[in-house]
Amino acid sequence: MNTTQVKAFGAEASDADLIAMNIQRREVTDKDVEIEILYCGVCHSDLHTVRNDWGGAKYPAVPGHEIVGKVIKVGSGVTKLKVGDLAGVGCMVDSCHTCESCKQDLEQYCLTGFTGTYNGVDKHIGGHTFGGYSEKVVVDEHFVLKIPSNLNLAAVAPLLCAGITTWSPLRHWKVGKDSKVAVIGLGGLGHMAIKLVKGLGAHVTLFSRTPDKEKDALELGADAVVISTDNNQMKSVKGKFDLIIDTVPYVHHVNPYVTTLNINGTLVLVGYLGGLEPILQTVPMIMGRKSVAGSVIGGIAETQEMLDFCGEHNIVSEIEIIKMQEINEAYERMLKSDVRYRFVIDMASLKA
Ligand code: NAP
Ligand code: ZN
Ligand code: ZN
Repeated sequence: MNTTQVKAFGAEASDADLIAMNIQRREVTDKDVEIEILYCGVCHSDLHTVRNDWGGAKYPAVPGHEIVGKVIKVGSGVTKLKVGDLAGVGCMVDSCHTCESCKQDLEQYCLTGFTGTYNGVDKHIGGHTFGGYSEKVVVDEHFVLKIPSNLNLAAVAPLLCAGITTWSPLRHWKVGKDSKVAVIGLGGLGHMAIKLVKGLGAHVTLFSRTPDKEKDALELGADAVVISTDNNQMKSVKGKFDLIIDTVPYVHHVNPYVTTLNINGTLVLVGYLGGLEPILQTVPMIMGRKSVAGSVIGGIAETQEMLDFCGEHNIVSEIEIIKMQEINEAYERMLKSDVRYRFVIDMASLKA
């Protein structure tokens, strides 16, 4: 298959900085859309992958799965988009299309595994997939999203991962006007969760370790803030929540949050991958029919639903625009929770 070389930014090893490099993209096939990338959000998963926190990282690693841009070429069979349209790509670029999950629009749970936008197996040209820290991307139209035209394009980028990852559990656990929801951690995912819960008309509380984020959280729409290191504040919300979305990226104490669930409540882990320490206590779960669950991103139809909802409700991410060349510094700041609330790369800087 013919390929073309495009500029990108990536890391050659888990302990290396990201640097400028060239990668190959396939020529569009019948069903493909070629997108000139205008903005790409910086997700904590990008950092986890580059640093091989989860194992299995492939190098060079070119991250980025919050991609927005303009369609510059379409294959002959493409019907969803045309040249000149705004387009988005999130965390997936392929799946099997035939398994029980794919048939139910749950490509993120494809039984053969979805193809990640980066660090996945490239079925077309071999090797592994490269993400959005690059000039262009070529993606099967099924995995390309339409972008509402009324929103700030740079601030839409984080919806493609941070937005859908928090939207999907809100929909699965049927959050509505009477729900009491809490969000743990005010970062990229957490701040989107607050906005989306408010959009759905429910009550939302933020749990944060960082007292000086309280003012921001209230401005973002939170109804209340609980500083998780303050035992009295934690006790004040015992038994309160129907749903908790836990976005913390590293191992942390989950048991104190389970006690803040109402009967039948669910705590959904979306941030941390791995074993919990201290171990999960089952007594509060059994005695209150409470659940601790997990969730990964969302399906393509659900991602479009979320984007359309954000268009109708004027919801976008709070962003700090950076140049591609500032990415290593941005990762260090993300590790210190010093991002309010999502870095977005202006990809014009890559061409400079
Ligand atoms: P982020 O912007 O860095 O935000 C994480 C927030 O968690 C921080 O702002 C901080 O909030 C809190 N936090 C950080 N370290 C902590 C620690 N050691 N203990 C307690 N709290 C801590 O990250 P993000 O981009 O939102 O991503 C969050 C996690 O979700 C990452 O692990 C990412 O890989 C994962 N993720 C999962 C999915 C999925 O499909 N399940 C999709 C995207 C991302 P406070 O300062 O308010 O405490
Ligand atoms: Zn992500
Ligand atoms: Zn499948």
